[in-house]
Amino acid sequence: MKIYNSASRKIEEFVPNHPDILKMYTCGPTVYHFAHIGNLRSYIMEDVLEKYLRFSGYNVKRVMNITDVGHLTSDADEGEDKMLKGAKREHKSVMEIARFYTDAFFSDCAKLNIKTPDVVEPATNCIDDYIKIITKLMDTGYAYFAGGNVYFDTSKLERYYIFNDFNEDDLAVGVREGVEEDTNKRNKNDFVLWFTKSKFEDQALKWESPWGTGYPGWHIECSGISMKHLGDDLDIHCGGIDNAFPHHTNEIAQSESYLGHKWCNYWMHVYHLNTNDGKMSKSSGEFLTVSLLVEKGYDPLAYRLFCLQSHYRKSLVFNWENLDNAMKTYGKLIGRVASLIPKNEPIDEEAISALRLRFDNALGNDLNTSLAVTALYDVLKYDTNDDTKLKAIADFDSVLGLDLIKKAEAKRENDKKQAAVAGEFTIISEDGTMDPQIEAKIRDRQNAKKAKDFATADAIRNELKEAGIELTDIPHGVKWKKV
Ligand SMILES: [Zn+2]
Repeated sequence: MKIYNSASRKIEEFVPNHPDILKMYTCGPTVYHFAHIGNLRSYIMEDVLEKYLRFSGYNVKRVMNITDVGHLTSDADEGEDKMLKGAKREHKSVMEIARFYTDAFFSDCAKLNIKTPDVVEPATNCIDDYIKIITKLMDTGYAYFAGGNVYFDTSKLERYYIFNDFNEDDLAVGVREGVEEDTNKRNKNDFVLWFTKSKFEDQALKWESPWGTGYPGWHIECSGISMKHLGDDLDIHCGGIDNAFPHHTNEIAQSESYLGHKWCNYWMHVYHLNTNDGKMSKSSGEFLTVSLLVEKGYDPLAYRLFCLQSHYRKSLVFNWENLDNAMKTYGKLIGRVASLIPKNEPIDEEAISALRLRFDNALGNDLNTSLAVTALYDVLKYDTNDDTKLKAIADFDSVLGLDLIKKAEAKRENDKKQAAVAGEFTIISEDGTMDPQIEAKIRDRQNAKKAKDFATADAIRNELKEAGIELTDIPHGVKWKKV
């Protein structure tokens, strides 16, 4: 597989460090609020990556953190700690808030067919791991104590700016209006590893440490949790593009200074979901959640399809019209899969390999999900039997996660029931199109058959055949296709 590596800014051949395990790490959510569908875009695309790696035969171990203790990005954070703010808003304890929104996050993920990572670790479970790393960073001179906090000293590094394409001035917090610079810092990009004196004085969760009672900085969580479960190296680290700087840059700085060698080989960043007028999570309109989509009558998997239709390294514009279109496409796709009837015919292995090659060419090339969806349509159009098509679709959908087989079965059953109730029979076309003229002819033929006028029935069938329309009788109806 080839993948774009944000660290080298090149598309590279993906080669894991170990033959028996592929180590994957994902930055998890800060659990103080419901997840925004813009953030869930990242998790959908990372889910496709994980599933495709498994599909390709890798033994993936994926780890994700849950940020349940103070999420402080930079000096620019204002007011209150996010977790504490959530707790006050809802008159609950910080841990109750964390538990509630962790459950809500995984419930949203389940609705979007996002697999839960093999290890999900709340940040509050690993305090000793952070203390161990920070202690060594202090001993080796990469960290210093000032004003009650422990800071990472970015001036000790040969190279700090890993992901950003910004110039150094743009990163200086002091030049941005309304940001109070932390005067304890030796260098403007230094960041906190351990707080005992935070500007958020009423932090609810605190632990003992060699530097006093306090709590960890946000960045150290991911390094600590990754090393705890995946050891001293990492094959691929994923996250939203907004995490690239400073979060991932700081993860690299502290991890490699601690380990004394390279830590992670590939970095995958998913771009933003935007509205027509800017970054979505900052927009003033409705706060978009999976529950809101469901409330408005959308299938969450139509949103998943919407995300798959564009490349993860492009910003995606969300509006309701785009989601409506995705809903229509999704409904039609299910209709087409439902028109395939399993008949226990032998699987055409040659067709499977040819189709699989198209699918691999799409996802193996920097996770081109929109081409992978096209490969799904190629299956529907391919000249082979329905059993083979259904097998290929089930295989591909184990990666794409659109529940096509399950939903098609449900549709077939539902159509049958409706036809039985109405005493009617269904007419479906293989490509999902509707044609009133053809349907009228098929009904005439059905009426002739009912009246035992088989000569007329056969004549209609032949007439359609000459016009390039082929009919197949199915239970409670007829399926037609253009040949
Ligand atoms: Zn992280």
